[in-house]
Amino acid sequence: MSEALQAVSPGRPQFPQALPWLVAAERELVAAGARFPQALLIEGPAGIGKRVLAMRVARARLCESPCADGTACGRCASCGYVAAGQHPDLRLVEPVLYDEEGNATPQDLIKIEAIRQLTEWSQVTSHRRGAKIAVIAPAEAMHYAAANALLKTLEEPPAGTSLLLVAHQPGRLPATIRSRCVRRVVPLPADDLARTWLAAQGVLEPDSVLAQAGGAPFLARHLADPARQAERAEWLRRLAAPQRFDPVALAARIELVAKDERRERLGAALDGLIGWTADLARVAAGGSPTRNPDFASALTELGPRVARLSLLRYHRALLRQRALLQHPLQPRLVAEALLIDYRALFD
Ligand SMILES: [Zn+2]
Repeated sequence: MSEALQAVSPGRPQFPQALPWLVAAERELVAAGARFPQALLIEGPAGIGKRVLAMRVARARLCESPCADGTACGRCASCGYVAAGQHPDLRLVEPVLYDEEGNATPQDLIKIEAIRQLTEWSQVTSHRRGAKIAVIAPAEAMHYAAANALLKTLEEPPAGTSLLLVAHQPGRLPATIRSRCVRRVVPLPADDLARTWLAAQGVLEPDSVLAQAGGAPFLARHLADPARQAERAEWLRRLAAPQRFDPVALAARIELVAKDERRERLGAALDGLIGWTADLARVAAGGSPTRNPDFASALTELGPRVARLSLLRYHRALLRQRALLQHPLQPRLVAEALLIDYRALFD
């Protein structure tokens, strides 16, 4: 359809393609017409493309000559502005800071200033067709003051303005916000759809990274990066030999990257430990590893050696630590403490 035309038009800005596993959700949302909610909460696991869905729905709502099924034409002026990131009636609010050259730096939180600007924008008359759409992704990144500020707009949204909230962990949003939104839950895609998409994205071993990502395709594509895979293998090889590895030396790997990348590196290490210990628990209970099937033999050998209650406690501590990860002062020390506790599981 229009996407194919876009692909052969040189110089036309790129816009994310429809995701095969979200086509049905997209059609349903864009077909709502005048019944489209003023506040929509799209929820589901991280890394499945909820933000792409929200942006595609926004583009369709703003399109000047939508297709019969309600999707965007991809050719009109409005679609062009959206693709170029310059549509005056579309706002994307993310925990990201842009410098003067447009380089993005990820931030922990969406601050109240961003929501104040959004409120001001929502009160200005639309520039083009009447509809105005804001996408907030992920909405749970809003600072509590930002969420409070948004609440006022949610209570009395200006006519023609829709707010699309995207959330991986909707439970972290204030109940007052959740209750004012129409909620649309997006599930994990079927494995075969995810695998085909990953292969088309140039991922060489889709099965392995899809398992590591718990079935979330965007996360799997992120993990497929060769440097990330090499680092994962390095960690898992050591975790597989708990009596022989040195927690201090392993944690020091966190500092092999630039300072501003260490938190991401600690996050990856924590996610790896969470997946690994979940697999250990599965194996100890007589099951098979789902996150790290490529390490099945090491896990099968280790599983019976760990006390299940201690393992469960440790796994829970990891999950708590993951939720608190926003401001680790010393990523290496956090990793060191977690690895010392891991080794102690096998004493
Ligand atoms: Zn259009």
